[in-house]
Amino acid sequence: MLKEFISNAALLIASFSLMGVLFKDKPLYPTSPFSTKLSWGICFGILGNVLMSFSFQVGPDIYADLRHLAIVIAGAFGGYIPALIAAALISIGRICLFGFNNSALLPAVGALVTGVVCGVISKLNIHRTLKAFTMNLCGLLIISIVFIIRIEDAAVLKNVLSLHYLISLAGGLFGYHFFVFVVDSNETQHQLKHSLFKVKETEERFRLLAEYSSDMITMHNDQAEYIYISPAVREVIHFEYPELLGKTLETFIHPDDVERTNSMFQRALQEGSAESTHRYRSKFGDYIWIESTLKSVPYQEEGEKKVIIVSRNITNRKLTEQKLQEANELLNRLSYMDGLTGIANRRYFDETLLREWAKALNLQTPITLVMFDIDYFKKYNDTYGHLKGDFCLQKIAQAINDLFPEPSNCTFCRYGGEEFALILPYSNGENGLEIAQQIKETVQSLKVPHKSSEIADIVTLSIGIASMYPTKINHPDSLIKAADSSLYLSKTRGRNTISINELSWKDFS
Ligand code: GH3
Ligand code: MG
Ligand code: MG
Repeated sequence: MLKEFISNAALLIASFSLMGVLFKDKPLYPTSPFSTKLSWGICFGILGNVLMSFSFQVGPDIYADLRHLAIVIAGAFGGYIPALIAAALISIGRICLFGFNNSALLPAVGALVTGVVCGVISKLNIHRTLKAFTMNLCGLLIISIVFIIRIEDAAVLKNVLSLHYLISLAGGLFGYHFFVFVVDSNETQHQLKHSLFKVKETEERFRLLAEYSSDMITMHNDQAEYIYISPAVREVIHFEYPELLGKTLETFIHPDDVERTNSMFQRALQEGSAESTHRYRSKFGDYIWIESTLKSVPYQEEGEKKVIIVSRNITNRKLTEQKLQEANELLNRLSYMDGLTGIANRRYFDETLLREWAKALNLQTPITLVMFDIDYFKKYNDTYGHLKGDFCLQKIAQAINDLFPEPSNCTFCRYGGEEFALILPYSNGENGLEIAQQIKETVQSLKVPHKSSEIADIVTLSIGIASMYPTKINHPDSLIKAADSSLYLSKTRGRNTISINELSWKDFS
């Protein structure tokens, strides 16, 4: 008996293994497509027929087999469709083998009933193992009925049934679990294949991203050495891959940017990410502005970190920014410049005086303002024309401006019309006086003819000086007012004169 059991078990192992291989991509589930269920059903039908030919003797001239297990397993795993197909094929096989007679018809009907019962049980909402066990029991019950009909001797029947139950239950348990093993290993293999496919797909996607990105993607070890460089390196900095490999990041960075870039690299290693804008030396020796995002990533061996840098050429943007900055600076300069004479304008005068006044107040130093006005300039215009008048203003402004080469503390401005002002910080009236005399002499030395002047035949100036220690209660306007009244005094005193207003005014001709 053991021999029969082992040969049937071996048959189940061989069949299930073969079926597992044949249908490794078409697993049998209640939800599988009809074509899959049909294929499996046919296989289980053939298996039932093979099991039929491996029948074993359970009584005098009485044979049994495990054919119903093919229907049970088909039903437990695939539902009623494969169970019915297997049952039908077994019935047909039975009739074909033994002919259309009583001894064939009864087992054939038994097989069909087993198929229907297994189909019904497969619909129950119970665990698959319990389903298989119940189906096996029902199958055995149906076979028992066949035996009861055919065996009249009660002692023989008892013997036959107990033997058959023992072998069928043991075979069922074994067959079911082996089939579970086949299904599980197919499933695991399927999942593994799927995961491998996914990994390959992801890898391919990232490879394409890195290789077709117009941004330069590089990977560095913690020593900042290049260990991966994307092909865009050729387009951005014109180096070939092997020329960078193993070199450190700083090898190609502008010397002025090396320190900053290295500290960004360290920051990425420690904090996870950083950003850097630096100049990168291309293969042709010119420098390209690069904007980089640095990210550190854990890599393979534990504790080891790599830094991935995504870099973009921003040279054009930088050039535009630079031009914009220059244009802004120019605009700024122009807004503080007098259009005719090219020296600082009234706006600049107002702002500078406020600033210098505050400084002087803070430092408790004196501040001096020199204001001067061209004498009889209306007459000059009337005599020589407005254009010549403009030219005269330019000439005088330029000559005086040259007295204070940059860098200088003094601020020389066109105050308005033919009137000019000079702010002298950290200076008292005496310093102002010295400079006023220089100005007066400079203009005199220009010898600009002025035949309609009532006091000379050349252009002359009237100068007013005011000097003060700023206090919290007075305002820069008071300094302007004082300088203006000094200037007015020079006018009333006959022009071509310097007057000073320092507490009490003095005059110097
Ligand atoms: P005073 O000696 O009292 O200063 O007499 P003035 O004629 O110089 O003074 P007034 O204020 O009567 O006239 C100033 C003249 O300066 C009148 C104006 O046409 C001229 N002026 C002001 N700005 C300009 C300028 O930008 N170009 C020219 N050509 N003339 C100017
Ligand atoms: Mg004037
Ligand atoms: Mg004047």
